[in-house]
Amino acid sequence: MTAILVVNSGSSSFKYQLIDMETEGVLASGLVERIGEASGHARHTAGTGESARDLPIPDHTAGFDVMLEAFAEHGPSLQDAGLVAVGHRVVHGGKRFFEPTVVTELVKINIQDLAELAPLHNPANLQGIVAAEKAFPEVPHVAVFDTAFHRTLPPAAYSYAIDAALAEQYRVRRYGFHGTSHKFVSEAAAAFLGRPLGELRQIVLHLGNGASACAVDGGASVETSMGMTPLQGLVMGTRSGDVDPAVLFHLHRKAGLGFEQLDTLLNRGSGLLGLSGRGDMRDVVEAAASGDEAAQLALDVYLHRIKDYVGSYHAQLGGADVIVFTAGVGENSAVVRAGALAGLEALGIEIDPARNEASSHEARVISTDASRVTVLVVPTNEELEIARQALAVVGG
Ligand code: ADP
Repeated sequence: MTAILVVNSGSSSFKYQLIDMETEGVLASGLVERIGEASGHARHTAGTGESARDLPIPDHTAGFDVMLEAFAEHGPSLQDAGLVAVGHRVVHGGKRFFEPTVVTELVKINIQDLAELAPLHNPANLQGIVAAEKAFPEVPHVAVFDTAFHRTLPPAAYSYAIDAALAEQYRVRRYGFHGTSHKFVSEAAAAFLGRPLGELRQIVLHLGNGASACAVDGGASVETSMGMTPLQGLVMGTRSGDVDPAVLFHLHRKAGLGFEQLDTLLNRGSGLLGLSGRGDMRDVVEAAASGDEAAQLALDVYLHRIKDYVGSYHAQLGGADVIVFTAGVGENSAVVRAGALAGLEALGIEIDPARNEASSHEARVISTDASRVTVLVVPTNEELEIARQALAVVGG
């Protein structure tokens, strides 16, 4: 057997999956959360059994010990699984990391250095790597970067029209995120359709708590909605997406908000939450359906913004062959899918209501047979993509 452990580490939690690379099936998965709080929580699922524990987990290293205990107690055995590498999700690779990379001391220094571009994410990803190295000293650790798939963005797409020297000095440009998902989903869409990836112009809509759109031309990312950070672009659960940057100057001058407060406002207190008081799309859809005006506006702004990007990417790609919905909202909300693409018949987009509303966890077509653009729902699987990339690096 050959297995890869995939770790996605946040500042106070991490998720993991042990993947059998021969079948690409999940052998075990789990979550360690509330690290550093008075009481932490750990959950481990293996086969059909699930176990959970509440106990203080002071840091990530202790968290990995708890995970190892869960494997020892509830299986599967990591030795028997043939663990060959640990794959880590790292949010920001900057201009330095475009390929999955075996972690060395220098790589860790570089990931830390990129924290100034992703202060919420890279330090947390690095904590996970350091702790996982202690737990698994004998196997290689591979970092897979969320920005990597967007290496192919042309300069016209990634450059902001600001002072060029300043931008260069401070690494200000568009990097794009959710790359692991956009790559996986665009490849899965081509495979599902039985068409060569190289021939397809795709618009991928990754709509989760974070949300981004990506124009994928022949398998390469050519435009994406997130920018230097994951704040730009679509409306998200708690992030604003696009706003006029002068809004910040105005709120600073007139409302007296400092830069930390503005950062928090746009990243954590905006989006669906800011507009409606609800950050979860399920609650927003439900409240809107029962007549809540703020929730309706939040949904309308969310859908309006998606439509903006779909139109824009049609133009950038010179037409689209495929539009793909993925992630929590994209895979599950027929209301959002229908609303986002309503009225786009002129672009050759026609949703079939019955196909759209049928619930399924499989890749599927939701457009009509007559629709010029094929609209799909394709479940994302970032963990599997990270595992595949990690395996490729360690020579699997
Ligand atoms: P993350 O970005 O954290 O990985 P996910 O891709 O899991 O997030 O997406 C989480 C989001 O998906 C939540 O906002 C949740 O409300 C939304 N979601 C899940 N199921 C549905 C549904 N049936 N209808 C609308 N939204 C849903």
